[in-house]
Amino acid sequence: MAVNADLQKERNSATFNIEKLTEVLYDGKAMVKRRRYLQKIVLEDKYLTSFPPWWNRDRNAQYDIGVKKNVYFTKLIQDLNITDFAEQFYLKEAGGHEANPLGLHEDMFVPTIEKLGTKEQIAKYLEPAKQYKIIGTYAQTELGHGTFIRGLETTATYDQDTEQFVINSPTVSSTKYWPGSLGKTSNHVVLMAQLLSQGKCHGIHAFIVQIRSEKDHTPLPGISVGDIGNKIGYNAMDNGFLRFDNVRIPRRNLLARYSRIEKDGTYIPAKNPRLAYGTMVFVRALIVGGCSKSLAQACVITTRYSAVRRQTEIRPG
Ligand SMILES: Cc1cc2nc3c(=O)[nH]c(=O)nc-3n(C[C@H](O)[C@H](O)[C@H](O)COP(=O)(O)OP(=O)(O)OC[C@H]3O[C@@H](n4cnc5c(N)ncnc54)[C@H](O)[C@@H]3O)c2cc1C
Repeated sequence: MAVNADLQKERNSATFNIEKLTEVLYDGKAMVKRRRYLQKIVLEDKYLTSFPPWWNRDRNAQYDIGVKKNVYFTKLIQDLNITDFAEQFYLKEAGGHEANPLGLHEDMFVPTIEKLGTKEQIAKYLEPAKQYKIIGTYAQTELGHGTFIRGLETTATYDQDTEQFVINSPTVSSTKYWPGSLGKTSNHVVLMAQLLSQGKCHGIHAFIVQIRSEKDHTPLPGISVGDIGNKIGYNAMDNGFLRFDNVRIPRRNLLARYSRIEKDGTYIPAKNPRLAYGTMVFVRALIVGGCSKSLAQACVITTRYSAVRRQTEIRPG
């Protein structure tokens, strides 16, 4: 495609080497080459380029296409054996800008099991999760508690008679609110809740909780769950809400690599309780990275547009 003459003029007058700057921004010559190779695969892919433009899609279509594209990407990444996280990102980035309704599963549910699970928990959940036989998200934020995580109100009370935790959302403000992939997609969550045992509160811990049936995807007894509805943007993602009414889970569902509960309810603390927040910190770093990409795209669009946009009368001379 011919480049707009005004844009070409601007490019010709650049005072720096464009290719060299690209190499600085994308981690060197080899990665720039690799990124272009991955982009080409996506831009020439018949399936990925077959969808109508996103700006004409309603909410359901945004979600459906988000799921379809990302299932396809998962397979493509496996087929091409792309193990590097940055390369996976570049591949998906070239395929459109929909949010990924499976993103919380991949970036938070799976890593939390890997990082906070015992060997037995990893053996039980990791493979099915990696094969998408179970799909999960990360349910931490509540209507009343976002930044103030210490204040979370959801409780997991240990019952030593049955060796189970009883999970409750005691107030409206304890309703889990915002988690991505919760509104429609997930049948499991990593739940962040206050652990109570022997009459004492031991602070926030991560639990694996099944919330929907694996047979027909309906909410399990005691679970109220759904989509929070349209947002200003990011509508391919099904951000959701979640409440618990006396939901029982086995003792072994507490992710127990660093802290655990003995059968009799004795609490064994982690050496460093901050470990519980590892996945969240990792994803915060991803979000900052994602914001820099969005800002970069906005800068490119505004710079190009200001170079080519002409309006009102332009008088010669
Ligand atoms: C698109 C989206 C996806 C999300 N996905 C997930 C998810 O998958 N899982 C999940 O658990 N959560 C998720 N969240 C929730 C997210 O983690 C919270 O929105 C975030 O932690 C902020 O909490 P809040 O919205 O309640 O804001 P608040 O905590 O109410 O904070 C509002 C503002 O006040 C400031 N503030 C708060 N307390 C203080 C203070 N003491 N002193 C000074 N300033 C203060 C904050 O910095 C902020 O600017 C998501 C949110 C969004 C928008």
